[in-house]
Amino acid sequence: MSDIVVLGGGFAAVWSAAAAARLLRRQGADRTVTLIAPGDDLVIRPRLYQADPASMRVPLDDVLKPIGVERVAGTATAVDTGRRRVTVRHRDGEVSALPYERLVLATGSHLVRPERLPGAERLHDVDTIEAATALEEHLHALPAGPADGRFTAVVVGAGFTGLEIATELVDRLRAVAATCGAEDQVRVVLLERSDALGPDLGPGPRSAVTAALDELGVERRLGTSLSAVTERGAELSDGVTVPARTVVWTAGVRASRLTGDVPAERDHLGRLLTDRFLRVPGVPGVYAAGDTAAAEVEDGHRTMPSCQHALALGRFAGHNVAADLLGMSPVPFAPDPYVTCLDLGSAGAVFTRGWERRVQMTGETAKARKRAVNEEWIYPPTGDAEEILRHAEPGFSVRRTVTT
Ligand SMILES: Cc1cc2nc3c(=O)[nH]c(=O)nc-3n(C[C@H](O)[C@H](O)[C@H](O)COP(=O)(O)OP(=O)(O)OC[C@H]3O[C@@H](n4cnc5c(N)ncnc54)[C@H](O)[C@@H]3O)c2cc1C
Repeated sequence: MSDIVVLGGGFAAVWSAAAAARLLRRQGADRTVTLIAPGDDLVIRPRLYQADPASMRVPLDDVLKPIGVERVAGTATAVDTGRRRVTVRHRDGEVSALPYERLVLATGSHLVRPERLPGAERLHDVDTIEAATALEEHLHALPAGPADGRFTAVVVGAGFTGLEIATELVDRLRAVAATCGAEDQVRVVLLERSDALGPDLGPGPRSAVTAALDELGVERRLGTSLSAVTERGAELSDGVTVPARTVVWTAGVRASRLTGDVPAERDHLGRLLTDRFLRVPGVPGVYAAGDTAAAEVEDGHRTMPSCQHALALGRFAGHNVAADLLGMSPVPFAPDPYVTCLDLGSAGAVFTRGWERRVQMTGETAKARKRAVNEEWIYPPTGDAEEILRHAEPGFSVRRTVTT
């Protein structure tokens, strides 16, 4: 029996486990925290659109071992909230049932790929480190491939991820094309089913995004979807075929299917609706954090499936799950105000504040912020127990410790 079991190995799970360990240690409580995840690393998922995605990881043991969190390498295949136990398929294939007193479900989300689309198996994506690494290898192999559409990429979906990978691909393709003197053949086409760029971003940053796409020469096809992917390229819903060796799918996200094992209300993404302490109402002992949770934030909004919210959700859920175990009062979820920082490749970035996404910074200033977020702020400290626990405090915010 583990006292607290945390399912997942992403930002939300790591910070849940660390925050729980912190409170238990501060209270001198001899209780266990166990994290269950299939992989050995915390994957820095927000960076998977960039070059060298295989390096975007931090060994889980460098964070968890110093603070005494146990780790099980396995996949949770079922959660029985009535009996308070999790079924785990261990990496060696063995299956076991692990009882818990308190549970944090932080198994994240995944891209919904269009499996019934003709040629779907040819689609690339940047949702996982494996997929992003496969795309990287594919790009490096392009010079040796057929000439037609060799350095053309079609990116499907002009949301956050679509915009980031489309703008980044301009430079990544140019670097590959340069090896055979073909930089002028680079073409990136962004496909969006709705009539607006960044439909979920709203109008706030749209003109900054449009200016960046113009600067980079990224073509847009709005009101158009993908009908099929063939060896030649992308067949579009308007009957046009774009010769392209690379087609990247970015549209659609869904919470981990384990949320379906919890008998509680879920939103349209499959996320569990939590109360203000990140408990799942009506399911004693169960908390949700990260992309599996839809928690209320400022002005009646709910959290976004985002790293910034996953980090905060993890810290609060971990603190509260341990407080619950020790009979202490929980603290209400209170993340920093919502911001976005969208990378626009060599055209810079755009930084917005608030839910209307009012633009605060663009170009190189915003890019410097994006670099700080990507390369420093979202990485956990490693090795030093006190430093890790300091970062695990519920209200901890890297953003507030540096000047904005
Ligand atoms: C390309 C890209 C760019 C992004 N850019 C941004 C950005 O700029 N800003 C931003 O805020 N967010 C961004 N995001 C979103 C952000 O990465 C996610 O919202 C964040 O990673 C969610 O963290 P999480 O811990 O909830 O889940 P995840 O990061 O999805 O981690 C889930 C973890 O659970 C594990 N797991 C899954 N199933 C099981 C199981 N059955 N049993 C045990 N473990 C399991 C997984 O292996 C993984 O370790 C981006 C995402 C992508 C893909």
